[in-house]
Amino acid sequence: MAKIISIANQKGGVGKTTTAINLSASLAALGKRILLVDADPQSNATTGLNFTKEQAGVCLYECLVDGVEPRSAILQTEIANLHLLPARIDLVGAELELISVPQREYVMRKMLAPIQNDYDYIFIDCLPSLGLLVLNSLTAANTVLIPIQCEFFALDGVALLISTIQRVQKGTNPALDLEGFLLTMYQKNVKHSMEVADDVRSHFEKLTFNTIIYRNIHLSEAASFGKPALLYEARSSGAANYMELAKEFLSRNTPKTK
Ligand code: ADP
Ligand code: MG
Repeated sequence: MAKIISIANQKGGVGKTTTAINLSASLAALGKRILLVDADPQSNATTGLNFTKEQAGVCLYECLVDGVEPRSAILQTEIANLHLLPARIDLVGAELELISVPQREYVMRKMLAPIQNDYDYIFIDCLPSLGLLVLNSLTAANTVLIPIQCEFFALDGVALLISTIQRVQKGTNPALDLEGFLLTMYQKNVKHSMEVADDVRSHFEKLTFNTIIYRNIHLSEAASFGKPALLYEARSSGAANYMELAKEFLSRNTPKTK
């Protein structure tokens, strides 16, 4: 049964979607069966995997609000083992529509349950908020992966995110765990980049991935061409960083045998 990982941080522009796309693609290339759920109305994961609004067809909105079966919305991407449950801007409306639904925080979990056996890992690319859609993602998830941009004010808001996670643990999802903190957009020899990395490591030592994602232009270019870096420029440091992250993720998730 797939492990479900929410990629969350209520700050925008910290590397959630870039991580969702490139970690998913790297794991799929390593042979894992992956579903990426685009849970952001901005639908950057959908366009980043080369689907236009028209091609996307039935989207997450219909699955959450109208009870449409997710298998009928899921798309095959250019990478064999990587599937996408796409989003459109109308997902904004789901936030309001779900308010009146009974057990409104559990809608995503119930929607994903019937397809959980089809995958090894399901990643949810969250929108930058702590609203009902994100609460649905946290309620559906086994763990949360938190990208931290190595920039000024990086840790602003992390305390609020952690207290939201704790609230979910006390309420709708007691089993929710932290997957880890991921340092993103790191710049070599830039003082504040190094300071943020040290700061995160000193607060959350064991929970911080050893792999660091460096700032790399190929990662942003790749997204604008609708491709994971792996397909756009396989030899880029961005593609290499995310492949390394995928391997670290797998080693953390594989029970050690003697
Ligand atoms: P979020 O989903 O948290 O809003 P994104 O993943 O969309 O953040 O990243 C914000 C912007 O930064 C995008 O334009 C993206 O292409 C760019 N970006 C993300 N990670 C990197 C990186 N490691 N190097 C260079 N650009 C990056
Ligand atoms: Mg995003």
